[in-house]
Amino acid sequence: MPSNAPLEPEDAGEEAFLTRFGRSEESTEWFSPIPEGYRKGRTRFVAVIGTVMSGLGKGIFSSSLAKLMQDKGLSVAPLKMEGYLNIDSGTLNPYRHGEVFVLDDGLETDMDLGTYERILDQDLTRRNYMTAGQVYTEVLERERRGGYLGRDVQMIPHVTGAVKWKLRQLALHGGRNGEPADVVFVEVGGTAGDYENGFYIEALRELAFEEGPESTCFVALSYILEPSILGEQKSKAAQLGIKRLMEAGVQPHIVACRAKNPVTRTVMEKISLFSNVPMRRIFSMHDRESIYTIPEAMRQGGLDREILSILDLHDRVDQAHEDRARVRWNEFSARLSAPRARRLQLGITGKYAALRDAYASIDKAVEHCGIALGAEIDIRWLETSEIRSEAGADAALEGVHAVIVPGGFGTRGIEGKILCAAHARARGIPFLGICLGFQVAVIEFARHALGLDRAHSTEFDPDSPHPVISELPEQKKLEGIMGGTMRLGGHEVDLAAGSLASFLYGGRTSIRERFRHRYEVDPSFIETLEGGGLRFSGRHPKHPIMQVLELPQSVHPFFVGTQFHPELTSRPLSPQPVFMGLFAAALTEFFPQDDLGPLARRWVRPKAPTAGGSRT
Ligand code: GLN
Repeated sequence: MPSNAPLEPEDAGEEAFLTRFGRSEESTEWFSPIPEGYRKGRTRFVAVIGTVMSGLGKGIFSSSLAKLMQDKGLSVAPLKMEGYLNIDSGTLNPYRHGEVFVLDDGLETDMDLGTYERILDQDLTRRNYMTAGQVYTEVLERERRGGYLGRDVQMIPHVTGAVKWKLRQLALHGGRNGEPADVVFVEVGGTAGDYENGFYIEALRELAFEEGPESTCFVALSYILEPSILGEQKSKAAQLGIKRLMEAGVQPHIVACRAKNPVTRTVMEKISLFSNVPMRRIFSMHDRESIYTIPEAMRQGGLDREILSILDLHDRVDQAHEDRARVRWNEFSARLSAPRARRLQLGITGKYAALRDAYASIDKAVEHCGIALGAEIDIRWLETSEIRSEAGADAALEGVHAVIVPGGFGTRGIEGKILCAAHARARGIPFLGICLGFQVAVIEFARHALGLDRAHSTEFDPDSPHPVISELPEQKKLEGIMGGTMRLGGHEVDLAAGSLASFLYGGRTSIRERFRHRYEVDPSFIETLEGGGLRFSGRHPKHPIMQVLELPQSVHPFFVGTQFHPELTSRPLSPQPVFMGLFAAALTEFFPQDDLGPLARRWVRPKAPTAGGSRT
């Protein structure tokens, strides 16, 4: 389903919604639609609201908090409430707003959803992401259908009513396997006092009142200033921010203080004094070396216990589940901080200035692999608009052990990317092309291995005599519309038995990965390309859409392209197979004398496979 499709058409339950509220005979000021089957008190809510300023890692904080509850065996449903009027993140510029994170159901969301999926190791859906644009669109469309039966439509109760409806829908269906969740974790974008999120905070206030005592826990995520001219922490900004929240009718139960250094007792006492929050519910969330240590630090501070008490959830805790989860996570953290003997240089083609956020999931996928393989992986960002010749590529990639050409749009630097792919192919440097990078690999191969000099994608050269990459037929119909019109979300991929791709996925021949693209390999070139030695080892189960390419290992140690985005499904405890394959190959190539250990060996396919592999 494209992300601009109506949200949850089947269960937005328009009929139910109207029967309960629009069609009722009595005239009432209440407007709080409750989904069929919803039981008050079954699901509890935790709302994290920023005060003082944004950019404090609210997503990481909220997801770590949710993880604490998940570890206890509770089923959690996170929700990001976004203040902007966009319907989704599809039209946002990643260099300004960070990467567009695509969910399995095709919704284009912001990078925080990636953080949630990774920390919780849980696939999310469009229910877990709300924007003001979605809420207003829904309300306005209902108004046009006459859904409010003569009432004037107001921010309160109608817009806040729509928000509460969505919150309860998530509570009802957002838990494990579509079951009700034990706890919904809401992260409100921006800070208290912003115009944009005022109606969210109001809706949460109403919800807490309607659901009753012990239903909702409000967490104020504050910030403690430590001006260098004073050399001490000041609580004033935090006090004012919390006051702002209280003016909106919300009394926080917990105050979490972001700060550079551990927050002093004096500062905590001041905050407690001004905010009615007892000392045991004020927490120092100072900077740490790694985000992965945050859940354990929260637990040691007793944050989990306080939340359980506030929400009266102690009796839902599965202690054995928590013990197991803790052991697994702590093993991971231990690997994280263990010294790593080998150092790999990874070249990624991408504009330096804004890239960390623009390629956040790639950055994370690389990190997961480094931890799993016990290797330090240094990223060298390559400004490809400056690479104009073979010699230029040689210089830029000097000393690089692996190359990734990631996804992208627009012509900028495209020739440089092609030169980088050429370098990697000619020199036997492990290579992974992702989405645009997959297309670049095809173009490079067509030009240099098949002699189709002007081979290109019609995205960049509409007049190319050899348009090896061209627009998907379904996309041609959508020209002129921007948002949510690409081939989006999770799709099945058939992998050829015996291929490197299938090996990486543990011998499977059918996988599911996430896509976001408009162009594909032009089917009329498939035979020519395969005749020249490029193998399309991953395909759409029914249509001739090429989804994975590879070179035989007799020719190249690791040359793989994926039309999908493998980085979107990498998780700390289960690093993504294609990325693992890339780095394991780089380690084998460049550190042949080292014993890589069983974990790395698992990802290295012996060269010259005996069976030869069947062609599709
Ligand atoms: N621009 C290319 C396409 O639309 C690649 C997209 C991407 O890398 N996400 O197909």
